[in-house]
Amino acid sequence: MSLNPTGWRPELSPELTGAESGGQPTFTGNRALMLEEPLLFEIGSITTTGVDFPAIDPSAANRLGGLERAGPIGLPGLSEPETVRHYTRLSRQNYGIDLGAFPLGSCTMKHNPRLNEKVARLPGFADLHPLAPVSTVQGALAVIHQLGEWLKTLTGMPGVAMSPKAGAHGELCGLLAIRAALEARGDARAVVLVPTSAHGTNPATAAFCGYAVEEIPATAEGRADLAALQARLESDVAAVMITNPNTCGLFERDLGRIGELAHAAGAFLYCDGANFNAIVGRVRPGDLGVDAMHINLHKTFSTPHGGGGPGSGPVVFSEALAPFAPLPVIERDGQGYHLVEEETAGDHHASSFGRMVAFHGQMGMFTRALTYILSHGADGLAQVSGDAVLNANYILRSLEDVLDAPFAASGPCMHEALFSDKGFGEGLTTLDLAKSLIDEGYHPMTMYFPLVVHGAMLVEPTETESKPALDQLIGALRHLAERARAGDATMKQAPFFAPRRRLDETLAARKPVLVWEG
Ligand SMILES: *Cc1c(COP(=O)(O)O)cnc(C)c1O
Repeated sequence: MSLNPTGWRPELSPELTGAESGGQPTFTGNRALMLEEPLLFEIGSITTTGVDFPAIDPSAANRLGGLERAGPIGLPGLSEPETVRHYTRLSRQNYGIDLGAFPLGSCTMKHNPRLNEKVARLPGFADLHPLAPVSTVQGALAVIHQLGEWLKTLTGMPGVAMSPKAGAHGELCGLLAIRAALEARGDARAVVLVPTSAHGTNPATAAFCGYAVEEIPATAEGRADLAALQARLESDVAAVMITNPNTCGLFERDLGRIGELAHAAGAFLYCDGANFNAIVGRVRPGDLGVDAMHINLHKTFSTPHGGGGPGSGPVVFSEALAPFAPLPVIERDGQGYHLVEEETAGDHHASSFGRMVAFHGQMGMFTRALTYILSHGADGLAQVSGDAVLNANYILRSLEDVLDAPFAASGPCMHEALFSDKGFGEGLTTLDLAKSLIDEGYHPMTMYFPLVVHGAMLVEPTETESKPALDQLIGALRHLAERARAGDATMKQAPFFAPRRRLDETLAARKPVLVWEG
């Protein structure tokens, strides 16, 4: 067996192939203690296995009734140490908020206090079975119920559904409630209005629910165009779906007026509150006429997230929509907490549109979110949003002289600062700057989103970053912005120092290698 089974050789940058390394890449492909990692298929083989199974009892095979596999499934076998090393090495190549600033706009990569993890791992919460008798899980039901009460208080909304499992799932929940409410009054409507400054999941959700989506333009300021919205609010409009703070990083100042106009036209106001982080403790969406809003617990109330999970997207409802909220609902009376499900729902829940998930939602996130809320308290939560907005404005004002900030004149931004690629030298793009930021040791900001800005860069600094940490990030971004403006073509080759250089991302996404073909 070759000592370098992958045959992979690092493509070193000009800096690294200089005198210090004698121009030589390493034999193994490793870089000091950063280890090169082959694919599982390259380490193991389909003819080996890391576990011993007893031989199949022929009579048991008969009982499988023809369901047994006809042949190997093409997954490689590895020993336990090989498996452990593979995943541990890969984990060292991962980048997370615990390693450094993670300025991914719209995603709110929060610091996750260790206290939350401790509470979430308490066996009384972590080891619960969703079908355990209600009398044995009163503590867990209390957590879900208390968290729901906090969400209602913080948003000023009377109803809540805890079960949706992500922001987009919460949007679906909100729109299903709106559809049920409209159908209940015999007024099914066909259209959902979505401003161009909304998150992409908003039109996707409305379309998934069968609504025709119509766009409302943004003003030059980066906010929803109130006049255009008003002009389109006719009797076929089921809902206005608006992201606040919007994806231009701005507070939708007209939200209250938009709510009045929507209601006057018989429509509902859906607010995408994924980034409640920026306004928590300062604004109650219920006071602005919002009828339904999801809150991404994983963005506002901590929980490690990214890479597709975990998420949790509870939805709060206005008086008008609360009766249509999904089951199960947790209620409290003199006897304790109980679950209202289909069989036990009385008249009070007769209009519920149904159910979003099989059980109750993401218990591990409920415990983390409630721990986060209780450890901060109401004043601490207001400080979270204050710090988030302060940090983002510090980034915006520190960089607006070297990076084009299209909405810098629209007043303070919220939790994220938006820049464009205007002014970059010939041939240089947002992608080149983002890839260069990897060499500087940062996960790139959100790129090419929102779509309303050319070559958009959406930078969200996270409220827990210290001033020295922000200054270092700003320094790195300034340095790269100046190189981009000067037309430094080497940026097109970045990253130089990452375990992999620039990949064909389209090919990687469209043709992933998932089975052994050797
Ligand atoms: C993250 C986000 C969503 C989607 O949330 P998921 O949990 O990823 O489904 C929707 N809207 C906005 C504004 C977001 O930032």
